[in-house]
Amino acid sequence: MNIQKPRLVFATHNKHKFDEIRQVIGNNMNLLSLTDIGFSGEIPEEKDSLEGNAAQKALHIFNLFGVDCFADDTGLEIEALHGEPGVYSARYAGPSCSFEDNMNLVLNKLKGVTNRKARFRTVIVLVENGKMSVYNGEIQGIITSEKRGEKGFGYDPIFIPDGFDTTFAQMTLEEKNRISHRAIAIAAFARHFMERKVQQG
Ligand code: IMP
Repeated sequence: MNIQKPRLVFATHNKHKFDEIRQVIGNNMNLLSLTDIGFSGEIPEEKDSLEGNAAQKALHIFNLFGVDCFADDTGLEIEALHGEPGVYSARYAGPSCSFEDNMNLVLNKLKGVTNRKARFRTVIVLVENGKMSVYNGEIQGIITSEKRGEKGFGYDPIFIPDGFDTTFAQMTLEEKNRISHRAIAIAAFARHFMERKVQQG
């Protein structure tokens, strides 16, 4: 018997993220990329919160194509900087800045500051049959006073998760993916599909 799996679009142009999610929920759903549905345009991301941006991205595709859809947004929130860079994490140091520029700005702003507490937060918003649900993942840690490690991306070289003495950039991808904000949000999101599978029998 050929059972049609439900179609679900991930509203991202980032292939790395797409593959990561497909690994987790791929078998329960017919997961489609934006390319699969023929969308190559910009996805608007103009809100001032992670939740707002993830919802805006998912609703944009849902409204255009009428297909179930989800999107994510992630930010680094630093306590002493009142939650900055937060929703502006990608372009904290300016419109065409690099990861290095962003980290340098953070380290400069935190020079002489003793409160180094920070967290990474990922929000996933799913729009399914027009209904919205939200999945969160976060990891607490501290900001170092200098960059350490070469792996990863973004702010990884200046973030040490609580309970560890290495930065994300000193961990292997497997180690980071076991504990990261994104992994936690993806696990909560995946549970939603697992639970539905159990209910359906
Ligand atoms: P996005 O919403 O996943 O595109 O993330 C926005 C920005 O947050 C990225 O451009 C990075 O600067 C930063 N970021 C997101 N996830 C991570 C991570 O796992 N490690 C370090 N930086 C991250």
